[in-house]
Amino acid sequence: MARYRGPVCRLCRREGMKLFLKGERCYGSSCAIEKRNYFPGQHGKTSRPKRLIGYGLQLREKQKVRRIYGILEQQFRNYYKKAVTMKGVVGENLLSLLERRLDNAVFRMGFGASRAQARQVVRHGHVQVNGRKVNIPSYLVKPGDQIAVRENSRKHVGLTMALESTEHLLVPSWIEVDRENLSGKVTGMPRRDELVQIPINEQLIVELYSR
Ligand code: SF4
Repeated sequence: MARYRGPVCRLCRREGMKLFLKGERCYGSSCAIEKRNYFPGQHGKTSRPKRLIGYGLQLREKQKVRRIYGILEQQFRNYYKKAVTMKGVVGENLLSLLERRLDNAVFRMGFGASRAQARQVVRHGHVQVNGRKVNIPSYLVKPGDQIAVRENSRKHVGLTMALESTEHLLVPSWIEVDRENLSGKVTGMPRRDELVQIPINEQLIVELYSR
C-alpha cells in the first residue's frame, strides 16, 4: 500500500479531530478542523457522524493512530506483532514502539514542525545517533541514545523554522533537549500519559488485531 500523499487535513476531518499533522498551522485559526469540522468529500457537510461500535470503532482507532504517526498498514501490523512479544501491556507497548521511532523523537525534540517534516529531516541525512548518521525514520531509539542534528545541517532553514514553531510544545520527560546545540538525549522509555495530545484508546487496536 502506498503512503497517502493527498491533503493531510482531510485525514483530520475524516477522524473528526485534530491529528496535528501540519505543524504550526495546526495550532492556529486556519486549521481545517476549526473551519470545516465535517467529513471531507461531496456529501461531507450533510452526512452525520455515525455512532460507531465494534469493528468500525476499532478500525477507526487504528487508522487514527496510523495517521498520527504516518505508518503504513503492514508496518503498523509489524509493530503490533512486536508489541505482543514484549513484556507489559500490549497496547502500551505498541504506542511506546511508535514513540521511539527516530522521526518521532526528532519531532518531540522540536527539530521538525510535524512528524512528517521530522521524517524528512531524518531521511535527508541531517540526524546522527550516538555520533553516526542515521537516515532511517523507523530506527528505534533507546535510553542513553544521543541524538543530534549533524554539523553541516545546523543552518538548514527548515530546522530553524521548525525550532521556532515547536517552541511552545512540551518535551516529554523521557527526552532531554538542548535546543541551542540542536541535540538531545533519550533518558528513559516513553510514558503512556505523555504520548500524544490526542485521545487514544489503544485497547481497541489490540481488539482489532486479536480478532
Ligand atoms: Fe490540518 Fe493540522 Fe488542523 Fe489537522 S490539525 S486539520 S493537519 S491544520
